[in-house]
Amino acid sequence: MKKRLLILGGTGDAIEVAARAAQIADIEVISSLAGRTKQPLTPKTGTVRIGGFGGAAGLAEFLRCSPIDFLIDATHPFAAQISANAAVAAAECHVPHLMLVRPAWEAVEGDRWIEVASHSEAARALSGHSRRVFLTIGRQELAEFAGLEDVWCLMRAIDPPAQNTLVPHGELLLARGPFSLADERELLLQYQIDTIVSKNSGGAATYPKIIAARELNIPVVMVQRTPIPNVERVADVSGAIDWLIQQLK
Ligand code: NAP
Repeated sequence: MKKRLLILGGTGDAIEVAARAAQIADIEVISSLAGRTKQPLTPKTGTVRIGGFGGAAGLAEFLRCSPIDFLIDATHPFAAQISANAAVAAAECHVPHLMLVRPAWEAVEGDRWIEVASHSEAARALSGHSRRVFLTIGRQELAEFAGLEDVWCLMRAIDPPAQNTLVPHGELLLARGPFSLADERELLLQYQIDTIVSKNSGGAATYPKIIAARELNIPVVMVQRTPIPNVERVADVSGAIDWLIQQLK
């Protein structure tokens, strides 16, 4: 009988894990998405379920009822709640659990980073210093920047913010990565951006804006990650597949 793998997704890495895990003969893949974006990119292999589980308890019930044999958390590094829930649920149900955590970006020569611990701290860092800001943090934390005076924001997100959400003064740009260096450079120049706000997401898909900022000597307010659960982890898709193969032995 096949072993069932649950992949917590919402990232390109999760889609790649699903594709590669589905090629393993003894594995049945179930991918899970939160359901945040209207037209999510979904894995082409295995089944996909969409929507929250109902906290750690709901996820534990899902692990027991499905039943799930292995859990790979390949969610975004800033999706802290689902990762915390996964750690609790997997431990409770004794389901082998792995986190795929792509390494954070590190500043290199020429980068002008202002590292902050939260989006509210990022907003405070802009106040009085920046006039034309590129907010590349998605739509969920836009309200943190809504109170800024004398700051115009270019806000990039996949979907528009929910109705009645406070958003900063500026323009909304709906787009989904990956983004090329040439396009990022052009965007920064076209909108006369003087500061970028970014999450330290890691990975290649959204890194070109960081290179473009370096080239144009533009400061980046970089929101740091919060600590993640202390569980087994790998840094890339190949590591996750190796772990899975190891579990099957
Ligand atoms: P979050 O704050 O960690 O999670 C909030 C709640 O959303 C969770 O408690 C869970 O609801 C549900 N949820 C999150 N991911 C889920 C998944 N893969 N499958 C089923 N339910 C899920 O997450 P978030 O930061 O809002 O991110 C939501 C999703 O977008 C994640 O899957 C993440 O990979 C993806 N994403 C996030 C970011 C980001 O910057 N945060 C960027 C790119 C992609 P219940 O408690 O009801 O189970």
